[in-house]
Amino acid sequence: MDYFKEFAPNFYSAAPVDRLWHRRADQEWLEAALRNPHTRFLPVWQAKNLVTPDQEPHPLELTAAQVANAVCDTGTLVLLGDWNNRIYFAVDLATNGSTAPARFAELGRFRDLRVLGPLLDHREAALLAYARAITYWHGQNRFCGTCGAATKSAHAGHMRTCTNEGCAKEHFPRTDPAIIVLITCGASCLLGRQPQWPEKMYSTIAGFVEPGESLEDAVMREASEETGIHIKQLCYRSSQPWPFPCSIMLGFRAEAANHEIQLKDQELEDARWFSRDEIETALRGGHLRLPTAVSIAYRLIEEWFNEEHSEGLHSLLR
Ligand SMILES: [Zn+2]
Repeated sequence: MDYFKEFAPNFYSAAPVDRLWHRRADQEWLEAALRNPHTRFLPVWQAKNLVTPDQEPHPLELTAAQVANAVCDTGTLVLLGDWNNRIYFAVDLATNGSTAPARFAELGRFRDLRVLGPLLDHREAALLAYARAITYWHGQNRFCGTCGAATKSAHAGHMRTCTNEGCAKEHFPRTDPAIIVLITCGASCLLGRQPQWPEKMYSTIAGFVEPGESLEDAVMREASEETGIHIKQLCYRSSQPWPFPCSIMLGFRAEAANHEIQLKDQELEDARWFSRDEIETALRGGHLRLPTAVSIAYRLIEEWFNEEHSEGLHSLLR
């Protein structure tokens, strides 16, 4: 099997940078990189990325001169890495205040990647996802979970250390694992909807992995809790970083052992079995919406749907 063909990278994954892990503690190299006129900075403010104001946006890549004071005053720098022989840093701006720092807002727009993502080139989206996820982690880890003292950024933004010398605990970036699974029974698949979702939208079953669980345990538990479905077989498909705010989605296909749906934990307001014909009819009639095409949820549905549909799911969305 050609693994990389079968598992082509999901959107937001495969950020194009060489992460330069070996430079993160190299102060001399870092200082030179910050002075280098070719180095570029990607500001993040309140989890929003700075992009060009056009209809086809791109990340707004700033020079050291353009970010200088912000970095000294309020920012935390994170070395993202090297892309095409250019060094990139994320700039974590202060999270306080309801308006974006004026000097940056004049240059472009701070936008939510969740909305912006599908408009971007996949490499740019992956780079901004990386910047957003790691700056979010900084914002959530300003104090030590062990002793409560302030922490400070280290290793070019890839670690935070506790400032209490008696503690000195090192904190590393974390991402929260969540499973997402397309469950099938015969020629149908199971889709559910949460009450807060847009009208008519249905998606795959998903949930966070709990401490002490394997991924397989989590798939079986979530399926049972949310829909009363027991799993008799499952296989891993692919994964997707999901920086909303800090997850990685681990995608599975599973086969149900029973057909009867019971909404046990009330997380879903509805769950149903859909055949391919029912999905096609509902999409054509405007009675069904699927998750955004850049999500792994969509990919899991599409992969299953296209196994027995000549035109493919994508043709029905146009
Ligand atoms: Zn501490």
